[in-house]
Amino acid sequence: MANGKIDVEALERKYREEREKRIRTDGREQYRVIDAQHSTAFLDDPFAPEMPARAARNINVEVLLVGGGFGGLLSAVRLQQAGIDDIAIIDRASDFGGTWYWNRYPGVHCDIESYIYVPLLEELGSVPSKKYAPGGEILNYAQMIGRKYGLYDKAIFQTTVNGMVWNDEAARWTVTTDRGDTIHAHFVCISPGPFPWPKLPGIEGIETFKGKAFHTCRWDYEYTGGEPGSLELDRLHDKTVGVIGTGATGLQCIPPLGRSAKHLYVFQRTPSTVGVRDNRPTDPAFLASLKPGWQRERMDNFNATISGQSVDTDMVNDCWSRALSVLNGLSGDEPETIEKRKLADFRTLDSIRARIEEVVDDPDTAEALKPWYNLMCKRPGFHDEYLPTFNRSNVTLVDTQGNGIDRITENGVVANGKEYPIDCLVYATGFEFMSQIDHRMGFDIVGRGGRKLSDLWRGGYSSLFGLHMRDFPNCFILGNAQQAITPNFTYLHMELSRHIAFLVEKARELGIRTMESKAEAEEEWVAKVMSFGPMRQRLQKDCTPSYINNEGQVTELDIRNGFYLGGATAYNKTLADWRADGSMPGLDIS
Ligand code: NDP
Repeated sequence: MANGKIDVEALERKYREEREKRIRTDGREQYRVIDAQHSTAFLDDPFAPEMPARAARNINVEVLLVGGGFGGLLSAVRLQQAGIDDIAIIDRASDFGGTWYWNRYPGVHCDIESYIYVPLLEELGSVPSKKYAPGGEILNYAQMIGRKYGLYDKAIFQTTVNGMVWNDEAARWTVTTDRGDTIHAHFVCISPGPFPWPKLPGIEGIETFKGKAFHTCRWDYEYTGGEPGSLELDRLHDKTVGVIGTGATGLQCIPPLGRSAKHLYVFQRTPSTVGVRDNRPTDPAFLASLKPGWQRERMDNFNATISGQSVDTDMVNDCWSRALSVLNGLSGDEPETIEKRKLADFRTLDSIRARIEEVVDDPDTAEALKPWYNLMCKRPGFHDEYLPTFNRSNVTLVDTQGNGIDRITENGVVANGKEYPIDCLVYATGFEFMSQIDHRMGFDIVGRGGRKLSDLWRGGYSSLFGLHMRDFPNCFILGNAQQAITPNFTYLHMELSRHIAFLVEKARELGIRTMESKAEAEEEWVAKVMSFGPMRQRLQKDCTPSYINNEGQVTELDIRNGFYLGGATAYNKTLADWRADGSMPGLDIS
């Protein structure tokens, strides 16, 4: 930008060059699948190392909920409120919390305002301590929901589902686990969360490293010192630490690592956008102003704002809402609107790049930290301590110019042809996203006639609302393909859980044995999902690769197996209208 004017051509050229550096033919396949061979370091639960012996269980329930994160918890709460308490909740973790159970890395915070992220605040009679709450506090809220609604009695923890098969005669699902359990359920409701399975970069030599290595979602405090919630990792004072990955997780764990390590090398392939965070304690005046129904109103307002709808006030008023209200307010197909959106995006990124120059002392480091892509090509990041961390004398940014690191050796990391000896290597390399569904969930679902969910996924997903699948009766997956997407995941779960409770209650009331979608209803819904394809292609075709755009290759299958892009508000309304209709249109019912 010169004299406040945007040089569109120069920016387009720069964005294109930076994208081309990063596009790879192997796309999503570049990552290393974490399997049993790596499980000790990368999958085992460091927060509950003991797994108490117990007898295998053989039980029958009305609803089996798989996943004890907010999706499972909210569904359980709503089911119970609808009078359905013959339920069980199963989770591989030793407690509720889902993503907040696993992600306890130092610095972990929710990057969505906690007043709209933590669900059921009014029911719990509590408000988080800060605008953006630390992960530990959110985990406490999940446990609080578990306690308040008596869900610990229904929980089967430290247990992993390994099979789910439909029995047409009995109209029941038979679910098996790694602890030898057999659970028969009339309904199954699966809430795997968007990121259940960590991924590692496919880097040569990864298994040869002799130092300590772990993924951010299995932080080893035993090794680093400190404990969940602390920013000081006292056992790293004499250690050289390397971190691979500078996404939303990297941004949060790099500042405490920088404070604690003797030396920290940050290996960067692509810089994140780092917007202003401005976290602060909850204002007593704000607390005093809250009226019954405030949380729902605030959630609705945020989701309408980020969808680009016109609202009287932007209640959350943060970097998310301000940026997305402008960008998504310009989502039409007219050339003028496309041009305006492009300019608005350039301006947003210009201010992000200007902030880096202001904060980071070394000009080369500042230059390397600058992102050159449209805001929504990656998950936007927000932090106020991340950039200053690079002014520390014990922190080195190793920028790889989009290439990623060369290889890993016994002793450390090779990047740009140079070896960096490392004692401890932290993988902040993210999670499988929209990969083969049976791998991500850890089990396949076998519906009527032996039809496998993994086959359905491979050939192109088909569903009604992303919730009902033909030949998979009485089975609901939450947060799945063909449902809406919002960074405010719990907003969607609030509605979906209401919907699940409605369906099961209806089944009870009307004596329904099975419900599943009609073929034509699925076709209609799939067509709706696909209708956003051209918009997605247009917005993402020039994007730098990331999990959001299938590593830079948005295919037809990706669009079909992706999300409904009409916005969470519109999606929630579709479900609410469907319930209000009362005739359960689009479902085959027996
Ligand atoms: P991401 O997938 O966003 O980031 C992975 C990082 O690893 C990227 O920087 C990537 O680089 C880098 N990487 C991958 N392979 C290599 C390689 N070979 N060499 C060097 N670097 C490599 O994962 P995150 O865990 O950061 O975030 C995942 C998601 O989790 C977020 O997008 C967000 O949705 C959620 N999250 C939410 C939070 C919240 O507060 N609500 C907080 C943290 C995470 P490149 O960019 O080049 O691919």
